[in-house]
Amino acid sequence: MYDLIIIGGGPAGLTAGIYSARKKIKTLLLADKLGGQSEVAPEIQNWIGEISISGVDLAKKMEEHLRYYAGDNLVIKEKDKVTKIIKENGLVTVTTDKDTYQAKTLLATTGATRRKLDTEGADTFEHKGVTYCASCDGPMFADQDVVVIGGGNAGFGSASQLLAYCKSVTLLEMAPTFKAEQITIEKLQQNPKFKALANVELIEIKGDPSKTAGQANFVASLVYKNKETGETIDLPTTGIFIEIGFLPNTEIFKDLVKIERGAIVVDHQTQATSEAQIWAAGDCANGLYHQNNIAVGDAVKAVEDIYIYLQKN
Ligand SMILES: Cc1cc2nc3c(=O)[nH]c(=O)nc-3n(C[C@H](O)[C@H](O)[C@H](O)COP(=O)(O)OP(=O)(O)OC[C@H]3O[C@@H](n4cnc5c(N)ncnc54)[C@H](O)[C@@H]3O)c2cc1C
Repeated sequence: MYDLIIIGGGPAGLTAGIYSARKKIKTLLLADKLGGQSEVAPEIQNWIGEISISGVDLAKKMEEHLRYYAGDNLVIKEKDKVTKIIKENGLVTVTTDKDTYQAKTLLATTGATRRKLDTEGADTFEHKGVTYCASCDGPMFADQDVVVIGGGNAGFGSASQLLAYCKSVTLLEMAPTFKAEQITIEKLQQNPKFKALANVELIEIKGDPSKTAGQANFVASLVYKNKETGETIDLPTTGIFIEIGFLPNTEIFKDLVKIERGAIVVDHQTQATSEAQIWAAGDCANGLYHQNNIAVGDAVKAVEDIYIYLQKN
């Protein structure tokens, strides 16, 4: 029986673990993998206190930090995937593919998954020009011609960020119309560096053809078809930002707490959910922005509030 169960081992979960261990809250941290989404990023430039760090090194440092303070109060169970959660008689019961655990409180930090583009070349050039995070990687493409894939609010939002420092931004949408708010679309269309086209078919992401096998190759162009005119265009670009869906990992919480557009609804002062004794932090919660530093801050707020709850109950 624990005071707190944390589900997730990304920046939010690891931070929550450090804070709860230091506060001597009897805690169990369950994660199918420690590290978090940005572990695959070759370079992170916006983690406060590190000018540049690889995703793998950041994950390693956060895990070391967690284990250093774990002490007797924090139990870490990796490769333990949570499949079911119920709350009854004032306790939360969490079932994983290995065991069942109980606690007085629960913190969800299960993060999110970005919908992947399946166009030819998207996998080959991921982290070599193809990226899923404009606010993370955008500044590395300053003064370059870039493309955003996806015409929803996220796509237009990324385009807006990129326009601040890129030479040009072309936004492509596969559906016949853009899904972003009209006011956002109209505002961006006034920018001479911006072009948006709906009803396109993406054909291929290509690298530099002069590179031979074994040589590092980066995105050089994107081939797409204008479905209206039938014309095929080979558009030179060095950066392709994919914004075709952000999917919070919240399936296991769906009968437990209020969820909107896939994300757990929280009180942003405390990270408390609609259900007493349950909090959520990081990308699985309904914050507007998704960053390591934000996930960490959310987790700190949650543990502070959980601590107060445990003191009173
Ligand atoms: C390629 C890429 C690059 C990025 N680069 C940057 C960057 O440069 N700077 C930046 O600030 N942000 C970056 N981000 C965003 C950042 O990684 C996320 O905002 C951050 O990881 C969110 O942290 P989190 O802890 O909420 O969730 P996550 O990092 O998604 O962690 C979720 C955790 O929950 C676990 N989990 C999920 N479901 C279960 C379950 N059922 N049972 C047990 N465990 C479970 C996962 O294994 C994982 O440990 C990047 C994201 C991507 C995809």
